[in-house]
Amino acid sequence: MVETSLYPRPKPNFIVENDAITWKGAGEISPLVVDGAFSQLSKLFSGPLEVASKNFGELLVINDAITRIDTTRTSPTSQHHFGKAVDINTSGMSNEKKLRLLKSLQDAGFNGFGFDDLRGFLHADLRNEKAGWAYNDYNKVKQTEWAGRKIINLILENRNR
Ligand SMILES: [Zn+2]
Repeated sequence: MVETSLYPRPKPNFIVENDAITWKGAGEISPLVVDGAFSQLSKLFSGPLEVASKNFGELLVINDAITRIDTTRTSPTSQHHFGKAVDINTSGMSNEKKLRLLKSLQDAGFNGFGFDDLRGFLHADLRNEKAGWAYNDYNKVKQTEWAGRKIINLILENRNR
């Protein structure tokens, strides 16, 4: 199926950062992005993210979605290449609010999470298996805490729910 620019843009309960690619034509995409990615992303926005956002009860700011051509992502399996991932801005959120956001996303069907309190975002994706990870800090050492919790515990709790 040929993708067009007609896929609906995210609903008004999401704010999308200017340089985030969320619909065809919004910017130059990486060659790693697969066919059907925009269609998947559209489903993510209208399905699980809509549910999570309603449960969370506040506007979500999306930093990033589809992989850009100038990405620093190298993994061929990044869910951003498949339209199955969003990075949600968490800067300025209290720890309590971040943990509530995580729970809302888990309850809505997101399975993969990347925790980053330095750059201020939570990666959430729709992979099939439950997974979680920490990002490196500026010294290339893995961050150990997110929202005042040990990331290793957040990963285990996500896996065991
Ligand atoms: Zn991400």
